[in-house]
Amino acid sequence: MIINRYPWLIKPYKNIIHQHQVGKAHHALLINTYPGIGVLNLCWSITRWLLCKKKQGIRSCGQCHGCYLMTSNNHPDWYYLKTKNNTDLLGVEIIRNTIDKIFYTAQQNGEKVIWFPNTKYITYAGICSLLKTLEEPPKNTWFFLINYNSFKLSSTLRSRCLSYYLSPPSEEKGIYWLKKNNCYQNELLSLTALRITEGAPILAKKIIKGTLWSERQLFFLNLENAINKKDLFNLLPFFTKNKMHVIIYIDWICYLLFDSIKWKYSLFAYIKNLDQEKFIIYLSLNYSITFLDKSIQSWIICKHQLMHVIGVNYELLLTEQLLRWEKNLPHHKK
Ligand SMILES: [Zn+2]
Repeated sequence: MIINRYPWLIKPYKNIIHQHQVGKAHHALLINTYPGIGVLNLCWSITRWLLCKKKQGIRSCGQCHGCYLMTSNNHPDWYYLKTKNNTDLLGVEIIRNTIDKIFYTAQQNGEKVIWFPNTKYITYAGICSLLKTLEEPPKNTWFFLINYNSFKLSSTLRSRCLSYYLSPPSEEKGIYWLKKNNCYQNELLSLTALRITEGAPILAKKIIKGTLWSERQLFFLNLENAINKKDLFNLLPFFTKNKMHVIIYIDWICYLLFDSIKWKYSLFAYIKNLDQEKFIIYLSLNYSITFLDKSIQSWIICKHQLMHVIGVNYELLLTEQLLRWEKNLPHHKK
């Protein structure tokens, strides 16, 4: 089974399957989680099991027609409602079409799965049409909805589902997994990668193995220089070079500023950017809590605008943010 590669998923898998085995499963499961913990692998394994015709305990048989159709990504009763790219939304039309199809094929009696891999992309109208169906669901139909820790999800939709929280493994287990997957260079690097990804081992692995780690070192070096010289505008090329990474950079800045506040309160065990200790101490010694806090707030607003304002001018917004930050940067305590 694919989830055997991710040991922290085994218990949630068994729990959810058990609910089905004893006939107590809720028809709509809302899984709340963070990226990089493996929710898609978990859901894939569960839906495969549901559509298997010759289940062997908690395992799917891997040989029946249902399993064959699943592995060839061709199962007619498996509806994976995904958007083509990150700017598209799932509207009422596609949801209604899917539900209509399910009602038409209801006489065939087999299990059916409707899976929404990210609730963020469902439009308001889409949610409304889904609510009606969840109230009177078609027979033998299982809904899986994945919510990446967004508080914005409709509370009515939440109330129609059974909420399940898929948590990351403990740091100790995360480190063990990184070691087993040849991603472990040293404790500091692995712990930092885990902490800046909210404990998500799969995402931490991606950061360590990819180019993002060296980008991070270079980014912080330049950030430290820019703060020192009170020339934050110099950082603009970092943000405009790779639009995909802008949000990640903003998160790193916020984590770093939070860490500097934590340092002031001696909350050393909660530091996320363990690889930036010198920088954190520098910020914590030279800047006030008010400044650090206001900086975090301004970056959060900037991030929100970048993510949610349609047609936003990235370069202009980031230029403004960097210049504002530079203007508000107090002189060091000497
Ligand atoms: Zn099977």
